Amino acid sequence: MAEVKVLVEGVHKQIENEKFDIGCTTVLIRSDKNIIVDPGAFVNKDRLLEALKKEGLAPEKIDAVVLTHLHLDHIVNVSLFPKSKVLLKFINGKYPGQFQRIDKGTLERFDILNEKIAEDISVIDTPGHSDDHVSVLVKTDKGKIVISGDAVGSEEWADINKKPNPEFVYSVEKYNESREKILKIADYIIPGHGKMFKVKK
Ligand SMILES: [Zn+2]
Repeated sequence: MAEVKVLVEGVHKQIENEKFDIGCTTVLIRSDKNIIVDPGAFVNKDRLLEALKKEGLAPEKIDAVVLTHLHLDHIVNVSLFPKSKVLLKFINGKYPGQFQRIDKGTLERFDILNEKIAEDISVIDTPGHSDDHVSVLVKTDKGKIVISGDAVGSEEWADINKKPNPEFVYSVEKYNESREKILKIADYIIPGHGKMFKVKK
């Protein structure tokens, strides 16, 4: 079974009107491969490297980095992993995914939603917050954990009655569908900004 560890816990705080303290949750999954989900914001660079070191892992030991979506607070530290495969959803084209090795420069397309990423790890389609959004499903001893990115941005969004502001989501309808899908599948959710929580069934 895969093991999941939160390396950096994401925050999302409004400091004043247009000023936010934002960093996403960064997660390490260990199975037959070492996977990072959402390497996060630059302000968390040192915290992330420190947390990896505590796990006995240098950045070169990370086989792949999955980006749940391409918002700045989730992706900047991808540059710390030039040798890893970087996986993301590719929206305009026949293939729903693409990967890149930063040090090699080339992009390759592949089926991110149907291809096995690693043992006990798969990617699920969760558009709505953005069109390119995916989440990561991990089978563990504790049950099924979904690393949900901003499809369920924090525990308060697990309440399906809480309605998103249409200005801040790509599609309210898809956002709600994706939330319901995650809540149905997951025993636990690690949200994009906040603590892991158990899903009430
Ligand atoms: Zn986002």
